[in-house]
Amino acid sequence: MARLTLLTYPDPRLKQVAEPVSQFDAQLQLLVADLEETMRASPGGVGIAATQVGHLQRVVIVDVSSKPKISHHGRLILINPEILDWEGFEIGREGCMSVPDYTGNVVRATHLQLVAQDEQGKEHKYTMEGYEARAVQHELDHLDGILFIDRLVSRRRDLFQRKSYKKTNSS
Ligand SMILES: [Zn+2]
Repeated sequence: MARLTLLTYPDPRLKQVAEPVSQFDAQLQLLVADLEETMRASPGGVGIAATQVGHLQRVVIVDVSSKPKISHHGRLILINPEILDWEGFEIGREGCMSVPDYTGNVVRATHLQLVAQDEQGKEHKYTMEGYEARAVQHELDHLDGILFIDRLVSRRRDLFQRKSYKKTNSS
């Protein structure tokens, strides 16, 4: 395994749309392992998308189990994820390993139904809510070349300079 280099804003590769995964092979397993190592090496890292390390494939990892008192699925490997249904709106603070100097208030759906494949290509359906649903929406945006700073209603009101990187979770 290897820790990969994170692309940071305004790297143009972060704006590209990732391709669906069709080969569930050793190369994919290696990418997943390297993504996980890269995510876990970042303080407060709760999610990562392959786009963030310059691999334009629809691969995401989310693990919000470090946050206390929330419902979650633990470690989620999401390949070719698609939102099937959603409900509710909530504003919440987000950080991003690719935008290390800022956090922002972003509106997201509170409840999601999601379908995704695992590393072996097996399809799974998930029902999720709250912080986990927010982290998944943040990562799925990366696959479509969208950053949280693209979703702010007002940069003046909703964008905040980080004082310390460790204080807010990132994905
Ligand atoms: Zn991010």
